[in-house]
Amino acid sequence: MKLRGRYGRFGGFYVPEVLIPALEDIEAGFERFRGDPKFTAELDDLSRHYAGRPTPLYHAKRFSEHVGFQVYIKREDLLHGGAHKVNNALGQGLLAKYMGKKKLIAETGAGQHGLATAMIGALFGMETKIFMGSVDVARQNVNVHKMKLCGAEVVSVSGGTCTLKDAINDALRYWTSHVDDTFYLFGTAGGPHPFPMIVRHFQSPIGTEARAQCIMQFGRLPDIVTACVGGGSNAIGIFSGFLDDAAVKLVGVEGGGKGLNTREHCATLTTGSVGVLHGAQTYVLQDETGQIRKTECISAGLDYPGVGPEHAYLKDSGRAAYYAVTDEQVLDVFERFTRSEGIIPALESSHALAWLVQQKGKLPKETVAVVNLSGRGDKDVSIVEQHRPMR
Ligand SMILES: *Cc1c(COP(=O)(O)O)cnc(C)c1O
Repeated sequence: MKLRGRYGRFGGFYVPEVLIPALEDIEAGFERFRGDPKFTAELDDLSRHYAGRPTPLYHAKRFSEHVGFQVYIKREDLLHGGAHKVNNALGQGLLAKYMGKKKLIAETGAGQHGLATAMIGALFGMETKIFMGSVDVARQNVNVHKMKLCGAEVVSVSGGTCTLKDAINDALRYWTSHVDDTFYLFGTAGGPHPFPMIVRHFQSPIGTEARAQCIMQFGRLPDIVTACVGGGSNAIGIFSGFLDDAAVKLVGVEGGGKGLNTREHCATLTTGSVGVLHGAQTYVLQDETGQIRKTECISAGLDYPGVGPEHAYLKDSGRAAYYAVTDEQVLDVFERFTRSEGIIPALESSHALAWLVQQKGKLPKETVAVVNLSGRGDKDVSIVEQHRPMR
């Protein structure tokens, strides 16, 4: 596996030696089952009847009028659990089952991936342990409760900043001594090989469906495809459908927080430098001594100091472009979009919408932009209320 898992100079698997056989085991399992007719039939059936695929592509007419060009929304917010995360949890959970693993572990920040994994643990009757920073446990109480309702154990992690990156460190550490019966269900298109490849694969239906829907619904490919980028799984999912279509501009949008001139943001690709984090060489937010910086932005799901290696590669090769928008711009579009469409977007997904608003007046009316609406914003209503109290 030495040369695999490389995206140019990015990727790889910089992990303790004890984990290499476990990663190779997952890679072998994935290669064995990804094309297996029984596996793909079961995944397809669950994707439809459990998760809710395919999701619609919706022409947001009133929002389009606002920005002055045509905006189509890929409705991942309609999936079970309220976000794209179920695609990956379902795929990897089924892979774990086919590989004969009895237990699942996962990391979580805001609790969205933890919840998706807990749902799948319940679905397959597998013992599930979720690692979560103690700060996040305290501030994401509702998700902790939901995970427990699904029967998962939530392990509160104290160490470092007691947030997502520390939860990943602890989950990897735990895995080193439980590799025999435990599958690490990684939450985004990052981390060591083979996770970036596997997560991309299970998120790729977003892009495959969106491309076919564009041709069906308006008879051509879109001009722009955009998505928010935390670790990069929903973005690589939709990008993967259009990578070979050179005329389609791919845009990833990161959390600019309080502004790129402050330290309170999570714009890894826009402002970071190359380093190694969680087993992969990629862009990271680090200080002069290589210490990982504390990140902060309004949407917990984007609050991560690293990014999937394929995005690092797409940035350097110029195939995709990455920008950041601020919390204020995100709050503005959250309100605007909800009022014009009656759809409450996740704060994460609102980053991509906010970038579109910045293009207002710069694009011809016939321009078509497809946005991946990665999740619904019900979870964010009280956060928005804190920033923008309603009269
Ligand atoms: C977790 C999450 C994200 C960020 O994760 P990616 O791996 O970058 O997709 C984005 N949107 C929503 C709704 C999320 O829950």
